[in-house]
Amino acid sequence: MKAFTYERARTPAEAAAAVAGKPGAKFIAGGTNLLDLMKLQIETPTHLVDVQDLKLDRIERAGDGVRIGALVSNTALAADARIRKDYGVLSRAIVAGASGQLRNKATTAGNLLQRTRCPYFYDTNQACNKRKPGSGCAAIGGYSRQLGVIGTSDHCIATYPGDMAVALRVLDASVETVKPDGATRAIPFADFHRLWGDTPHIETVLEPGELITAVTLPKPLGGTHIYRKVRDRASYAFALVSVAAVIGKDGSGRAAFGGVAPKPWRVEAAEGSMRSGAKAVAAQVFADARPTKDNEFKVPLAERTLAAAIAEARA
Ligand SMILES: Cc1cc2nc3c(=O)[nH]c(=O)nc-3n(C[C@H](O)[C@H](O)[C@H](O)COP(=O)(O)OP(=O)(O)OC[C@H]3O[C@@H](n4cnc5c(N)ncnc54)[C@H](O)[C@@H]3O)c2cc1C
Ligand code: SF4
Repeated sequence: MKAFTYERARTPAEAAAAVAGKPGAKFIAGGTNLLDLMKLQIETPTHLVDVQDLKLDRIERAGDGVRIGALVSNTALAADARIRKDYGVLSRAIVAGASGQLRNKATTAGNLLQRTRCPYFYDTNQACNKRKPGSGCAAIGGYSRQLGVIGTSDHCIATYPGDMAVALRVLDASVETVKPDGATRAIPFADFHRLWGDTPHIETVLEPGELITAVTLPKPLGGTHIYRKVRDRASYAFALVSVAAVIGKDGSGRAAFGGVAPKPWRVEAAEGSMRSGAKAVAAQVFADARPTKDNEFKVPLAERTLAAAIAEARA
């Protein structure tokens, strides 16, 4: 690990200004992703601004919806009675991820900003445009079983790995932030993660020093909330494919897919076909898929995972 300096911020605005004020500075929350990357020297921040004292650890009512502080732990969020009752897909997605110990430390904001699990990104001997812009991509033409099938680019075919974000996408969440100058904004979740394009090292629309303060959920949708995650091991593994779905009694509904793209993948226009079944939806969602020979199985797997979710809702 490279040497760095450290401070604990007392207010969100102070934290944002502290990161913006020092080149190479980063926020640290639970540290469960950032510290691993620092040990491997994939991330080499010069200064860490610890956000744990910012009092952003409350889950509150906000109009008809809910406001989740950026520092709420994954464990607390998944266990919250209102989240379990009204936003069950979110609770289920969180407990499908990581382990109990990790979820105790992992925060709402940190979870959204976890970095890809592409094996070449983690191997500093390999070319990786995401780790070192302009160095190339060892995964293209390499072993790509875990990697993306849609929304990828000629510069990066990695996936966004998290579970919680897939549920937030289907719930139409919004991300609240504060910038270093004190200005705040709300970013619709659909716009929060970027497609890789020719700058795969830039993963979200956050500006330098911009701090996430909360995630808000609109009023409950009703319906049956399902999160299905297909992975190589029964637990403690990232998704090959996942589906977050909210399905009504009449069979209509919404669905977002994880493990397939640079961001949670949802095509609202395809959801008009939910009552016709998974095949009709998946054909539209994956119409532009560009899988590799190693991961072409993900396209039918995504369709079958959605079919299982629809069957579960009907049962
Ligand atoms: C072995 C293992 C298995 C895992 N399995 C899964 C899994 O199956 N599914 C899953 O979804 N996740 C999984 N994870 C990932 C885990 O959920 C994340 O590491 C965790 O959620 C990150 O949260 P954190 O608070 O520790 O973030 P940190 O590591 O502290 O930070 C992550 C990033 O977020 C930034 N950041 C933190 N807070 C803010 C803020 N308020 N505003 C702006 N930037 C901020 C940091 O600068 C950093 O870049 C796994 C992790 C491990 C180690
Ligand atoms: S797929 Fe993306 S993360 Fe993986 S090696 Fe290529 S550029 Fe790096």
